[in-house]
Amino acid sequence: MRYVIRVLLVTPEVRRAAPSAVERAKIELDRALGASKLLVGEAGASYRADDSDVLGPSPDVVVLASSAEDVQKTLAIAERHEVPVTPRAAGTGRTGGAVPAAGGIVLATHALAQVKDIDRVDMLAVVQPGVVTGALHAMCEKEGLFYPPDPNSLDMCMIGGNVAENAGGPRAFKYGVTREYVLGLGVCLMGGHALHVGRRTVKGVTGYDMTALFVGSEGTLGVFTEVTLRLVPKPPQIATILALFTDVHACGAAVTRVLGRGIRPRCLELLDAKTLEAIRGQVSIDPRAGAMLLCEVDGEALEDETERLGEALSQGEGVVDVLVAQDAAQRARLWAGRRALSTATRKLARHKISEDVVVPRSKISELLRRVDRIGEENATRHLTYGHAGDGNLHVNFLWDDDSERPKIDRSLELLMRATIELGGTLSGEHGIGVTKAEYLPLEQSSELIELQRSIKKVFDPKDLLNPGKIFPAKGHKAC
Ligand SMILES: Cc1cc2nc3c(=O)[nH]c(=O)nc-3n(C[C@H](O)[C@H](O)[C@H](O)COP(=O)(O)OP(=O)(O)OC[C@H]3O[C@@H](n4cnc5c(N)ncnc54)[C@H](O)[C@@H]3O)c2cc1C
Repeated sequence: MRYVIRVLLVTPEVRRAAPSAVERAKIELDRALGASKLLVGEAGASYRADDSDVLGPSPDVVVLASSAEDVQKTLAIAERHEVPVTPRAAGTGRTGGAVPAAGGIVLATHALAQVKDIDRVDMLAVVQPGVVTGALHAMCEKEGLFYPPDPNSLDMCMIGGNVAENAGGPRAFKYGVTREYVLGLGVCLMGGHALHVGRRTVKGVTGYDMTALFVGSEGTLGVFTEVTLRLVPKPPQIATILALFTDVHACGAAVTRVLGRGIRPRCLELLDAKTLEAIRGQVSIDPRAGAMLLCEVDGEALEDETERLGEALSQGEGVVDVLVAQDAAQRARLWAGRRALSTATRKLARHKISEDVVVPRSKISELLRRVDRIGEENATRHLTYGHAGDGNLHVNFLWDDDSERPKIDRSLELLMRATIELGGTLSGEHGIGVTKAEYLPLEQSSELIELQRSIKKVFDPKDLLNPGKIFPAKGHKAC
């Protein structure tokens, strides 16, 4: 059984609802939705956490919404009684986005799980937010269509959470992230106002791009009740190549060679030496290897592309081996190893924090060098894997003893600072949530943060929808 030790979330700036207001809201929710859609007390305890290391207060009530009307009614009642609401899908988020920082209502949308339409002519899907991403992949592929975004949590995470976090995944290098596929949204605002933003057409420039604003808004602007997604034709063929290197710097150089030759694999996943150690039990790996690239190409001219990729990978220093997967079963085994990385590396220590910083691709090697230096200077254990094609690296810090936490925090801050110095960004896919809010001022000016706070006020003047997320606490040292 997986055992995660979590830190109790402290957000004194987040206002909790008055107990009497909560009681009135609960009575109204019970009347409007029925007791079977509400969880209270211990029954709602598992909704305090997501896949980050923070634990929020117990929600006063969890609403198990099963229709857009349930969402609407909940947001109307919550605003009337000024009770905070935290939207939630599968709870696989890595930055505490679905953790109820203010207690109040957790609005669970996992039961809105209908695929309403898969349209082969217009190449789009209309789905509810609780549809599991991997299940949507399978349904689209049966129709000869393809929904590219593939977070490694795809067997659990849901489209609503993916849209709220603007999720990416290994295939983002070629196909882009969730934002590129969201055409339109059914959204319910705080107070219960239902809206439809966006369209069903591929082109469309009417008014402000409100869909783009909602994508990546981390549950702070509105609650999605329906998502219209653009699909593309299913690629006819796929080839998977595994390249092994003596060390991560030889691996970084191979990434530069591949990109420099204009080759665009759909995935280019990097694993460093310590990450390889964690999966050696599952996948047999040459003992000389100190780093690995898992690459995938798809499309029509597959043989040519595979050959060009193989050449680019092999023609450099520090190459141990380059192997092409021979069949679907081998491909599946390699990807199972990659998708299990997060869980496998978690077993290496009592605590693990996985960051998702992004640097320009040309700076990957420099970031890896800086991470090594941060580790040495602060005596912190670390490992790195990630989406090298996008420069999006999961730098993980590991520790066993609680007394090590201050040096982990120092290492995290140094990582964030190094990322920004190299022209990068704090998050490529996990969002800011609560765990990274304090670092936001390292990347964004106070004017920009204030502008975003003003936008939030337009949608949610009383700051009731997912409070305590994205923005640093007022008066924070970095503000
Ligand atoms: C093993 C593992 C691997 C992962 N790999 C990746 C990866 O490759 N790429 C990647 O991008 N992420 C990855 N993640 C992180 C996570 O899976 C994604 O952030 C995912 O998009 C979260 O989806 P969810 O359904 O779990 O959302 P939740 O965690 O439930 O919620 C995430 C956010 O969405 C908001 N939200 C949820 N539902 C709604 C709604 N209906 N309307 C409005 N807001 C809503 C919540 O308030 C919260 O802020 C990984 C996580 C794990 C555990």
